[in-house]
Amino acid sequence: MPNTDRNQQLFERARAVIPGGVNSPVRAFKAVGGTPRFVSRAQGAYFWDADDRRYVDYIGSWGPMILGHGHPAVVEAVQRAVVEGFSYGAPTEREIELAEAMLALLPSMEMVRLVSSGTEAAMSALRLARGATGRKYIIKFEGCYHGHADALLVKAGSGLATFGHPTSAGVPPEVVQHTLVLEYNNIPQLEEAFALHGHELACLMIEAIAGNMNFVRASAAFAQRCRELCTQHGALLVFDEVMTGFRVGLHGAQGVLGITPDLTVLGKVIGGGMPLAAFGGPRAIMEQLAPQGPVYQAGTLSGNPVATACGLATLKEIARPGFYEALAQKTRSLVDGLKSAAAAEGVPFAADSEGGMFGFFLLDALPQNYGAVMKSDGARFNRLFHGLLDRGVYIAPALYEAGFVSAAHSEADIAATVAAAREVFASL
Ligand SMILES: *Cc1c(COP(=O)(O)O)cnc(C)c1O
Repeated sequence: MPNTDRNQQLFERARAVIPGGVNSPVRAFKAVGGTPRFVSRAQGAYFWDADDRRYVDYIGSWGPMILGHGHPAVVEAVQRAVVEGFSYGAPTEREIELAEAMLALLPSMEMVRLVSSGTEAAMSALRLARGATGRKYIIKFEGCYHGHADALLVKAGSGLATFGHPTSAGVPPEVVQHTLVLEYNNIPQLEEAFALHGHELACLMIEAIAGNMNFVRASAAFAQRCRELCTQHGALLVFDEVMTGFRVGLHGAQGVLGITPDLTVLGKVIGGGMPLAAFGGPRAIMEQLAPQGPVYQAGTLSGNPVATACGLATLKEIARPGFYEALAQKTRSLVDGLKSAAAAEGVPFAADSEGGMFGFFLLDALPQNYGAVMKSDGARFNRLFHGLLDRGVYIAPALYEAGFVSAAHSEADIAATVAAAREVFASL
């Protein structure tokens, strides 16, 4: 019998030439099973797969597509930029404009450097923190993701406040021996770690609203304690806002929490779907970077003129008055609708959102750390995922990922999603 499923055909073809058939692991549907959808095009809140089936998209390229796909003002800016030129390896005025636009919205930053991916930005911020403090130890939290730099691919060792173990083959244990991995939202453990290692810590890196263990907020007290302990011990507080920056609000997670980090790492939304990321902070720290200072960092495509055009056009749209209020309201109506649908079908369900980012769990209460997230019922989540997929709703194909609503999602899209979810909940 001929195979008519074009997604399946493409997946087989892809697997012959690309490891696992994908260029980033979570796309492979390994956690949920089944065939990944190969996207042929997208517009607004939707994309279409290789069989021309339409899906309401709650991933939005894992965050960047906050305006929805193909926003006319962004498309126009990109088209204009492409005609001017793709890349020069020399500075452009648009890089200054984008830097100025970001600094105006994130007052914790006085200077910013543009790079091409969140991984690169986090890795560079880490090097800068070490260079600026002259220290080598760092803290990260279990369940937070900061890209795939060696020193950050690490999980907790056994016991309290111990140094970590690599989570990937190819990362020698020596490379993560200066990375201390702690439990999210655990204040006593944080205090113990600073008591033991505070004087040798270069930085503490955190997703202050975590979006890589589904959606988990740092409690106000925990975030505040991170700030105080860093200040007290001369360590830099680094907010990884690659996901939350310009996504949870116009001033990021730092604006939501009212906490000023020393360094901020950005990505995703600031590129509007193009490869663009950044890291920034106070002038005295940022001036440690080459060519001005001794901390080396560089990039052939950094500040790419097409990417900066896309990012600038996106920033212009999201800075319009009322943008985040409307987005947050829409995201809340999705989350509230899902909660009611789950309750009506007797399915344990907890959910939360901030701005255009949300998370839900098949649990009775919102988890506070990675261990609690991982107590979710994976098999049940997978049935929910496929049930929604069959009904034309595309959510993250793994229970440890957050979800994203764009300005292009309509109340009708959300109502249809909630109705689809209720049907699936009934069959769980
Ligand atoms: C996505 C993400 C990264 C990595 O960014 P890439 O552009 O995928 O390299 C880093 N940190 C956080 C918080 C992210 O969500």
